[in-house]
Amino acid sequence: MQLPTYDDVKAASARLEGHAHRTPVLRSATADTRWGAQFFFKCENFQRMGAFKFRGAFNALARFDAAQRRAGAIAFSSGNHAQAVALSARLLGMPAVIVMPQDAPAAKLAATREYGAEVVLYDRFTEDREAITRQLAAERGMTLIPPYDHPDVIAGQGTAAKELIEEAGALDYLYVCCGGGGLTSGSALAARALAPECKIYGVEPEAGNDGQQSLRAGRIVRIDTPQTIADGAQTQYLGNYTFAIIRRDVDDIVTATDAQLVAGMRFFAERMKMVVEPTGCLAFAAACAASEAQTLPKNARVGVIVSGGNVDLARYAALLATG
Ligand SMILES: *Cc1c(COP(=O)(O)O)cnc(C)c1O
Repeated sequence: MQLPTYDDVKAASARLEGHAHRTPVLRSATADTRWGAQFFFKCENFQRMGAFKFRGAFNALARFDAAQRRAGAIAFSSGNHAQAVALSARLLGMPAVIVMPQDAPAAKLAATREYGAEVVLYDRFTEDREAITRQLAAERGMTLIPPYDHPDVIAGQGTAAKELIEEAGALDYLYVCCGGGGLTSGSALAARALAPECKIYGVEPEAGNDGQQSLRAGRIVRIDTPQTIADGAQTQYLGNYTFAIIRRDVDDIVTATDAQLVAGMRFFAERMKMVVEPTGCLAFAAACAASEAQTLPKNARVGVIVSGGNVDLARYAALLATG
């Protein structure tokens, strides 16, 4: 297994130039005062299609050879990866098939189709999505792009942290949301190269701490699908590539509760005027908790990756009403 390196992140940056948004790094005087640190928020909720996943998908598809481009890309996802692959395929002029559960939210099905992808539906309760996807991929000669465990996806995701550190300067801490670990491992490649002293934390939902368990056990631990509002991090296990990088380069994996995520959503809405999805609040929630537990040194320079902003508005309002 050949792990991607920081050179791959740099190459991904060049491929994304002119296609991905260079998202803003925002500050908040209120956050700095309240939690006694200097926060640098990398706002991937403002990325194309609303989440960092565009970076990894576009980088992977941009590397296809001519035959792969003709046949196109296939992915299974009901979340942000679906839209990321669909949009990247359209921009690169290739076909895309996204395998989605037939009971996926109508808005997500519509958004994926709007980006020009063919949506193939399956029954979550009776059918195996991976088997369906593999069969379609074989029949049509399409290339399967997984949501996180792929060197080109990891390298693409790493470009967000690269931009953050280039803009903010060296950081003391970097907090990153962790589902399957694509964003965390890519961020770690960038941070280890650009800010070697920086402490890097992946953040999982408390109910789904498979990555934390994996680090402790020294092997990939699998769990049942966790119950959490962080739907972008409801993964059951880290990947082979992502685990290897996280184990080598990440200082630790910590967790945040659903209540902390709602508090984060409220802070971003009230104070920074931005809509962030529950999963996108994991990193900030953990940084705030560290400050409150006094494990974050005063005035530390803390990078926080705000990973995405795709949340159904009715659900968003309902979650805020619970906080
Ligand atoms: C996919 C996703 C994550 C988790 O990313 P991984 O690479 O699977 O760890 C976090 N936040 C958002 C918004 C996502 O879409």
